Formats: sequence, structure tokens, C-alpha cells
Amino acid sequence: MARPSIIRKTAADLKVAPQWTDYEAGRVGFSWEQVRRELGGAVNIADAAVERHLAGERANRTAFRFLQAQGEQTLSYADLSRLCSRFANVLAQLGVGKGERLFVLAGRIPELYVSVLGSLKRGVVACPLFSAFGPEPIATRLKLGGASVLVTTVELYRRKVEKIRAQLPELRHVLLVASDGASCDGIAGTLDLDRLMAAASDRFDTVPTLAEDMALLHFTSGTTGTPKGAVHVHDAALTHWATGRYALDLHPDDIFWCTADPGWVTGTSYGILSPLLHGVTSIVDEADFDADRWYRILQEQQVSVWYTAPTAIRMLMKAGPEVARRYAFPRLRFIASVGEPLNPEAVWWGKEVLGLPIHDNWWQTETGGIMIANTPAFDIRPGSMGRPLPGIDACIVRRDEQENIHEVTTPEVEGELALRRGWPSMFRGYLNNEERYRKCFAGDLYLTGDLARQDRDGYFWFVGRADDVIKSAGHLIGPFEVESVLMEHPAVAEAGVIGKPDETVGEMVKAFVSLKAGFEAGDALAMELLGHARKRLGAAVAPKEIGFLPSLPRTRSGKIMRRLLKARELGLPEGDLSTLEGQS
Ligand code: AMP
Repeated sequence: MARPSIIRKTAADLKVAPQWTDYEAGRVGFSWEQVRRELGGAVNIADAAVERHLAGERANRTAFRFLQAQGEQTLSYADLSRLCSRFANVLAQLGVGKGERLFVLAGRIPELYVSVLGSLKRGVVACPLFSAFGPEPIATRLKLGGASVLVTTVELYRRKVEKIRAQLPELRHVLLVASDGASCDGIAGTLDLDRLMAAASDRFDTVPTLAEDMALLHFTSGTTGTPKGAVHVHDAALTHWATGRYALDLHPDDIFWCTADPGWVTGTSYGILSPLLHGVTSIVDEADFDADRWYRILQEQQVSVWYTAPTAIRMLMKAGPEVARRYAFPRLRFIASVGEPLNPEAVWWGKEVLGLPIHDNWWQTETGGIMIANTPAFDIRPGSMGRPLPGIDACIVRRDEQENIHEVTTPEVEGELALRRGWPSMFRGYLNNEERYRKCFAGDLYLTGDLARQDRDGYFWFVGRADDVIKSAGHLIGPFEVESVLMEHPAVAEAGVIGKPDETVGEMVKAFVSLKAGFEAGDALAMELLGHARKRLGAAVAPKEIGFLPSLPRTRSGKIMRRLLKARELGLPEGDLSTLEGQS
């Protein structure tokens, strides 16, 4: 039986009264100044997220509950504040000051959370990196970001950082966390974080910051060139708070679980900051996905608001409804998802198997927070990303032949999704790359690089990317970074990388290569290239398939035509080939 195109919400669907119930009134009555007042005028993110709660009874409330192999570790807001102060003092003693950049390369361990918030308290810019990256993406980002401090574990340091350390002369301090039974002792050029923390005072006055001071750096990928460091400022906390309220509907008693890793923007904005700004309890699971364990966490931790990703939902769907039925989730009241298209089946699966539909929402590294969302009080159109949040003005634009941008006012017309600038968590630049930043704007519109359409009722529908970046398991992967590593293999003459549709992870990274003379295509070389890429890039970024071609299609100006590689791979029409090299 065909399912309806709308999931209607009724009062019976809501376990708690939502904070936003009238779409238009919520938007008209909204102002960022009012949000600023909600945060008590705190300007520094660490003050707004942690210190602000210490005066009242929230001080003793659990901020984080870490689920670790060895058991649970709980930190109250007061504990978190003391640890962040210690960390800020450690930085001060090391002479690390305002505006310097601190990177964290670690799994979801307490030290990551303390380092990020402690850095902010010290006025130091925090940049969490995905711990599954291989040495190559790590080195690129540390260099581009001008890292002066790195916090990592002994195990990750030995495996990924030691070999690239000589390339990083600006990296003054490496602070190590003991891991897997390996101690920090005797590792040249590093310091033992635990020891420094134990010796530091747990009192620290937050370094005064301005709303426009840089606070967070998140790397993202484009089609060409190196990754881009998106700069976010302390004022972004306003968006993190507002979206926690309007998109995630956080209430003071919520137990919130964001499954994203802080190495990606969702895991920082919503795995750390937004729930803290609301004073709620967050669950942090240190382990990787496992259907049984995830359901157990939802049940045992009594999660009430859950923010996850389409790939995870599809993996749960694959595990089968009988696994879900072994558990009960009476406290769960809202499920949201982000990062890649959420197919209507997944929205319905939530309703049918978990008793709650999945609410898709849309944003990106550059926007710093959720922009378009399905929220508790409003009907869902499965397959749609929802409608713009209060304070967010979104539209569809098209370019004319002179490359001028025009806003589309007719519904259902496809074009590029654009946002009117002015929301506080908008990125303020790509680090050291003013030109690339400028290209993202047309007048006061930020051009997102996503293609979408808006229906008659204002809901936005994702159509695709305007460029060649790949979304695999919710991770944005720049084809250029993968191609560069493949090109370093002695057998490879040319490399072109595409995203190949995949039922579970959305897109799978596939590389095409042509070989230098003297090398022979075949399974053995394919395995070797996959291994080479995996070692250098890490499993999350490396290609899963290799195709050999005598040569790769290029434009007359020499650029590899990934679009054509993809069309040929998928048996789709090849489109306009007028720029293809060798065409007359
Ligand atoms: P990132 O900057 O890594 O967070 O990736 C942002 C990109 O992910 C967006 O520009 C979209 O292409 C994609 N994306 C995020 N959310 C959604 C969604 N709800 N539906 C479809 N694509 C999404």
C-alpha cells in the first residue's frame, strides 16, 4: 500500500509540548538579540555553555555521560568547569595564548571535550579532527590550520603523527593521553596531559573574547585544491542555542544523544555545544556503530532526544526490526537526522519501528548550525529537509547567461540553495583563503553549493550537489585529496575520483586511474592501490573500488571530467561533451 505523502502531527504524537508551534509567528517574533539575552550576555562560548550554569542547581546536573569499554564516566557541569579551568591553565603555562590554534585528534574520550571547551576558555581556537583520518589528511589540516598545539592519544600519535611531525615546525606542543595501556612516558617531543592537568589549578578566569573572535575551525572539502578551514566565531553560540531550541526542541530535563563524531561539525555543534548551552545531559558513546548496542543505549540511558545520520538509520534498518523490538524507548520523544539525503522509507521506518518518524534537517560546515529542519510540531513531508528555522532566510537561486544570480520566486523550480547572510554561526572565512570565501557569496546571499527546490508550502527538497564532492556515510570527501594520494603511487599516471551511489552509505568512493608505462592493470595492483590509499588517507576517506582506464577524460583546459566518469560508471547520459579534450 502506498504511504501518504505527509505525516500529519497531532497532539497525541507529542510527549512534551514543543517550543515552537506556530511556524510564522515563531519566525516573525524571533530576534538574535533576544537569544543573546537568553545567554545572559555571555560572549565566550565556554562561558555560555558551562560557566553560566554554575550559579544554580544545574551545576550538579550531568553534562556528559561517557559510555566507555571500562564503564561509564559522568561529568557534572561543575566537574566540567573545573577540568576546563585546569586545561586552560595548562595552556597558559605552556604560553599558548589567545587566537592560537589547538587541534584534537582523539576518539570520543572526555579529554577531547575538555580540550575543546578549555581552549575556548583560554581564548584559543579549537579544531577537533576525525580520528579515523590517516596521516596525510592530518598533516594537511595541521599545516593549513597553523596548529601550535595537538592533543592526541599515545596510540594515535605513534600510528599517525610521529611520522609527519617533522613536516610541522609550527606545532610547538603535543599533549598525550595514555591509551590502550600505553603510557605517555619517554615519547620524545611530547608532554603527558594527565600529569599537567593534575598539577594545574582548577580555577581560571575566562579570557575575555569578542563576539567576532575566532573560536572554532572546521575543515571541509571542495571539488578542487586543499581542504578549506571554515572559521567560526564565539557568536556562533547564539545559533547553537537557537537551533537546540527550535530544531531539536531541547527541554531542561532532556537526555540528548548526538551520535556524530566531533571530528565533523555536527559532533562539535551538537555533540558538545548546543546541549551544554541548554544545560541538558549528553550521552557520548566512545564505540563505533553496533545496532544492538545503540538500541540498548537508547533504552538504558533513557535518551529523550536523538540526533543521528541517515547512514546509521539505514544500518539499523538493515539489522532488521526484530532487533529494535527487543528494546523499549518510552522516554524517546524526538528523532532528528542530518548530513545526507534521508530517504522517505527511513522516515517511515522510524515511525513504524521506533514509534517516531525521523525528522530530517539540513546544514553544512559553513553554516555552523541547523538552517532548515523538520521539527516536532509540524507535519513532515518524507523526503523533504523541512523549512527554514527562525532567524534563517533561505531561497533558491539561478544564474543567468551573464553569471548573475537571481532569486527564484516560482515554487518547484530547481536551483542552488542560498541563505541570506546575518545568522551568527555563518563562517567568517576560509582560513587564509579570502578569494575562495568571496566566491561563496552573491551580494548578501551565501551560495551553499547544494541544488534544491522549494515546494508551494515552503518545504525544501534536496536535489544534489552542484559540485563533485562526495558524501560517504555522512562524511564530506574532497575528490582532489584522494586523487593526490593515488597520484603519489609510482604506478599511477592520472586519477579521477567519484561518488558511486550506495544503498547504505549514500555514496561510496570509487577511483579511476590510468597507469604509467610498464605497469599492468589487474587485481593485484588494484589491491595495492587500495591499500596505499587506506594507509595514507584512513579508511573513512580512501576509495573502496578502483577502475583502470587507458586514459581519463579531460576538458580542453586539462581538468579531469569526473562528471563524465560518473555518468559512464552509472550508464547515464554523458551530457554536454563540448569541453571534452579531443572533441572537435
Ligand atoms: P558538511 O559540511 O560535511 O556538514 O556537509 C554538508 C553537506 O551535506 C551539504 O552541503 C549537503 O550536500 C549535505 N547534506 C547535509 N544535510 C543534508 C540533508 N538533510 N539532505 C541532503 N543533503 C544533506
